[in-house]
Amino acid sequence: MEAKSVETVPMKAPIFDYLRRYRFKKVVLCNDTDIGLRAVIAIHSTALGPAAGGLRMWTYDSEEEAIMDALRLGRGMTYKYAAAGVNLGGGKAVIIGDPKKDKSEALLRAMGRMIDQLGGEYITGEDVGTTLEDMETIYSETDHVVTLPEHAGGAGDISPATALGSIQAMRACAKRVWGTPELEGKSVALQGLGMVGGKALSTLVEAGAEVVVTDIDEEKAEMAVKEFGVKAVDPEEIYSQEVDIFAPYALGAVINDDTIPQLKAKVVAGAANNILAEERHGDELERRDIVYAVDFVANSGGTIFDTDRYRKGGFQPERAMTNVRRIFERIEEIFDISERDGVAYYRAAERLAEERIEAMNKVRLLGQPDTAHY
Ligand code: NAD
Repeated sequence: MEAKSVETVPMKAPIFDYLRRYRFKKVVLCNDTDIGLRAVIAIHSTALGPAAGGLRMWTYDSEEEAIMDALRLGRGMTYKYAAAGVNLGGGKAVIIGDPKKDKSEALLRAMGRMIDQLGGEYITGEDVGTTLEDMETIYSETDHVVTLPEHAGGAGDISPATALGSIQAMRACAKRVWGTPELEGKSVALQGLGMVGGKALSTLVEAGAEVVVTDIDEEKAEMAVKEFGVKAVDPEEIYSQEVDIFAPYALGAVINDDTIPQLKAKVVAGAANNILAEERHGDELERRDIVYAVDFVANSGGTIFDTDRYRKGGFQPERAMTNVRRIFERIEEIFDISERDGVAYYRAAERLAEERIEAMNKVRLLGQPDTAHY
C-alpha cells in the first residue's frame, strides 16, 4: 500500500536541480502528524559558520512553494551574512500554516526540537508570521535561536543598529559622489518614518542634513515636522524631490520603471529590503550615474548587532556597534569590485559575498569543523 501511494505522487525533480545549481548543503522536511507540524529547513551554506535565518509561517498554496521559499530565502541569507562580514552561513525555515489559526505552543516547541536535532547547524529567528514571543517558546526547546528579547538574553530592539548601519552606507555613497562622507548640507528625501526611518531622521538632522519626509501614516509625518522642523510631502511626491539623496525606509520594490525617471537624487541609500523591483533597475540606476547602497548590506546593521552573541565571549554591544559602523567599508568594497569587474553594484555585492565564501572554503580545507569560528 505504501509503495503504491508513493508511486501515485507525481514526481517532479526541480528541487534537486535547484539544490545542485545553487550548491545547497541540505534541506530537511519536518513532520509531526499528531501536532500537525509540516516544516522545511533549508541549509544553504555553512562555509562561514552555522546557517542562520528566520522562521517563516505562511499559508503556502503548495508544498513545493514552501520548499522553494525556504530555499530562495536561505540562499539570500548566505549572501547577506557573507557580504556584511558576519561569520554565519545562510539558511531559512518555514512552517506551512496560518499563523493566526494554526500556531500553538506545541507546534512551536515541536519545531524547536526539530531545530535542536540539527545540533546547531541551523540557527533560527523571527520572520514573517512569527514573533519574538514565539522565539522565546522555541528557545525553551533549543539554544539555537538568535532573535530574542533582552529579558531572554537577546539583543532586544535592533532598529537603532539598522539605522546606524544605513547611515554609514549613505555616508560611503556621499564620499563616492561628493568626495566627503559628511552629510551636512546634503538634502535627503526620506520615505517611511517607522522604527528605522524615525531613527535615521534624527541622525540626519543632527548631522546637518536638510530632510524632506513622507509616510502614509500622516500622524508620523506631522510628528516629524513638529519635532525636527523638516518638510513633509505626500507619499507619491517623495521620488521627485530636488534632493541629493533618496532614502527608502518603508517598503520594497520602490526603485522601478515608474520611479526611476522621477529621481533627481545622485544617491539611493536606506534600510528598506529588496529596494530594486528587478535587477535591471539596478543597471538603470548606474546608467543614470546614481550611486546605490546595495540593500542587503546597507540594512545589515541589525543583523550584525544581534548575531554578535554568537561571536567569541558572547554579546558585546560596543563590539557589535563597531562592526555595524564597518558597513561604510563594506559599501566601499562593493564600489571597488564594481569598478574592478565592470559590473553593477548589486552584482558586485554578490561577488563580495561569493569571494568571501570561497576564501573561507579554502580555510575549511585546513580541517576545522564548520562551526569552529564560535
Ligand atoms: P516599520 O513598519 O516600523 O516602518 C515602516 C514605515 O513605512 C511605517 O511608518 C509605514 O507607515 C511607512 N510606509 C509604508 N508604506 C509607505 C509608503 N508607501 N510611503 C511612505 N511610507 C510608507 O518598519 P521598520 O522596521 O522601520 O523597517 C523599515 C524597512 O527597513 C522595511 O523595509 C524593513 O524590511 C527594512 N529593515 C528593517 C530592519 C529593522 O531592524 N527593523 C532591518 C533590516 C531591514
